[in-house]
Amino acid sequence: KNAIEVRDVRKVFGSGEAAVAALDTVSVSIRENEFFTLLGPSGCGKTTLLRLIAGFDYPSAGEIQLYGDNIALLPPFKRPVNTVFQSYALFPHMTVAQNIGFGLEMLRKPKAEIKARVAEMLKLVRMEHLASRRTSQISGGQQQRVALARALAPQPKVLLLDEPLSALDYKLRKEMQIELKRLQNQTGITFIFVTHDQEEALTMSDRIAVMSSGKILQVGSPWDIYDKPADRFVADFIGETNFLTASIAGVENGRARATLKSGATIMASVADGFQPKGEATVVVRPEHAKLVKGKGELSGTVENIVYFGTDTHIHLRLDGSDDLFIVRQQNARSASCGFETGEKAGISISDDAAQVLRD
Ligand code: ADP
Ligand code: MG
Repeated sequence: KNAIEVRDVRKVFGSGEAAVAALDTVSVSIRENEFFTLLGPSGCGKTTLLRLIAGFDYPSAGEIQLYGDNIALLPPFKRPVNTVFQSYALFPHMTVAQNIGFGLEMLRKPKAEIKARVAEMLKLVRMEHLASRRTSQISGGQQQRVALARALAPQPKVLLLDEPLSALDYKLRKEMQIELKRLQNQTGITFIFVTHDQEEALTMSDRIAVMSSGKILQVGSPWDIYDKPADRFVADFIGETNFLTASIAGVENGRARATLKSGATIMASVADGFQPKGEATVVVRPEHAKLVKGKGELSGTVENIVYFGTDTHIHLRLDGSDDLFIVRQQNARSASCGFETGEKAGISISDDAAQVLRD
């Protein structure tokens, strides 16, 4: 069942020569109870799409449906939708409990109901012990929890979250990512989460929509997006990728024989219904390649070794093409990667790791 359906939505700011299409014919369906993420670089239209769903702004064309009803022109307070902003926008002179109850007061709910609901929300975000503190006297992470509780208190059907974690430091951000997942699970409310951070999107989402320049390029599960990027932008934006130029001889059973510039041949998988011919780009994730002392499908010179604790990234300059290639290897305890800068190395690519990109 779909909670939200966005159909052919356009949003143009300004007019004439100065017109900017912030959203260029966007369509997407967001399922009930799902943790859905809009992911893309700054300026791609994420906030604009969220504001249209919230009702803070109206589309230039297209429809937005909530459980089958067109709500594109409904004012915000008539939508069963709530928003958590990056800035939290809490009232500093009010207590934690008063902040959480604020939306319910505005809706003129009975006192007893407000009290019960606030207590429930305090428990949900584990803030009972700070109920009567002013929000100016709690930490950033605690303010974040209060902002979440306040937005969840009126029981919206959909919660919109616009980069809510970007103001937090790394440790706290990791903690709040898990907290947000738990809250979504526990409440069953549909979350539409916005981030420019691909790692955050991969770790938190049921499904992700990757956006660029006002368009949605791909919608899928984290593993779909990571393992089967629809095009070059998605492959490049999500994780690290090696791009290799190859010539394709023909496709058989979803696999193509790709001849690289070095003359080496590798088998690369091809998406259904796609018939690459001639020159194409083949992508290989760094963790699907391995350095070997002898001959691999590729060979090159080690240029840089970057240690990350759990793994090591080895940057190589490929023989015969001068392209950069990155290999990521898991680290064994207290062992180096076995190569040194300036050394020649073979690169072995695991079966089915290479893919022909749809450009
Ligand atoms: P994101 O949230 O992904 O960073 P936005 O949705 O804020 O992107 O912006 C998308 C594009 O629309 C940008 O080019 C931005 O400059 C433009 N834009 C957003 N809001 C307005 C506005 N109120 N007036 C004019 N241009 C706007
Ligand atoms: Mg934004």
